[in-house]
Amino acid sequence: APTGESLLRVEHLTKDFAGLRAVSDVSLEVAPGEIVGLIGPNGAGKSTIINLISGAHRPTSGRIWFNGQDITNSETSRVARAGLVRTFQHIRLFRSLTVRQNVEAAYQVRLGLSLLSVMTRSRRYREAMEEMRVAVDEALALFGLEGVQHQLAGTLSYGDQRRVEIVRALVTQPRLLLLDEPAAGMNEAESAELAQFLREIRQRHSLSIILVEHHLDVVMEVCDRLIVLDHGTVIASGRPDEVVRHPEVLRAYLGG
Ligand code: ADP
Ligand code: MG
Repeated sequence: APTGESLLRVEHLTKDFAGLRAVSDVSLEVAPGEIVGLIGPNGAGKSTIINLISGAHRPTSGRIWFNGQDITNSETSRVARAGLVRTFQHIRLFRSLTVRQNVEAAYQVRLGLSLLSVMTRSRRYREAMEEMRVAVDEALALFGLEGVQHQLAGTLSYGDQRRVEIVRALVTQPRLLLLDEPAAGMNEAESAELAQFLREIRQRHSLSIILVEHHLDVVMEVCDRLIVLDHGTVIASGRPDEVVRHPEVLRAYLGG
């Protein structure tokens, strides 16, 4: 059972894919308000851990506790409603919908509102639509996207598309946000802007973040703590400035 102040607690998590152990006996915790970086070479198991925590994959063994609830075998929609939301390594926007429609779609799916569409014109449905309008207005304003809300998502710059992805996750006010390589494909200016954006999110929302990221400058700038994975196991964890000097970490990164 969970103890202490953790928002997320992962115990002895293992995931096998036909003949391959992608994640091997990983335990970790995330405190409320904490930003934890999950780093490691390609194939280390980072995305698999995000998939397991978010309910997209079933673990081979181990348990996952979120906010005092055992979510080990829960569906992603249930996990999202409990306040745990993720973004993907590859952008998953609807390119031919507007920015606003993209944010609204995320809100509806995560809160299960699509089911309510069958109850069209019910009072609960109208209330839900009004709540959505307010939440989406707020989210767009908070992140300076009001000006582009009616533009097609596919016409935005790469950096702005990544921001819309994060706003799609934030609109339901999660308690834990899982970001899988949000700076992937960004240039230096865009990733510096993303780091600033993540710091703002932390200030404005009392949420925790697990940040999977290859851009070490972003990781060093926003994370309170780092966990380093290699071949599915945790090889180091601790304060960012200490962890990046760890010999095992240097070996994993430099292949020495
Ligand atoms: P990372 O995100 O750290 O680059 P992944 O979690 O994507 O690593 O992958 C870890 C290992 O698991 C890799 O060897 C990868 O090929 C394998 N893997 C990931 N997803 C699957 C899958 N759905 N089926 C089979 N193997 C997978
Ligand atoms: Mg990955």
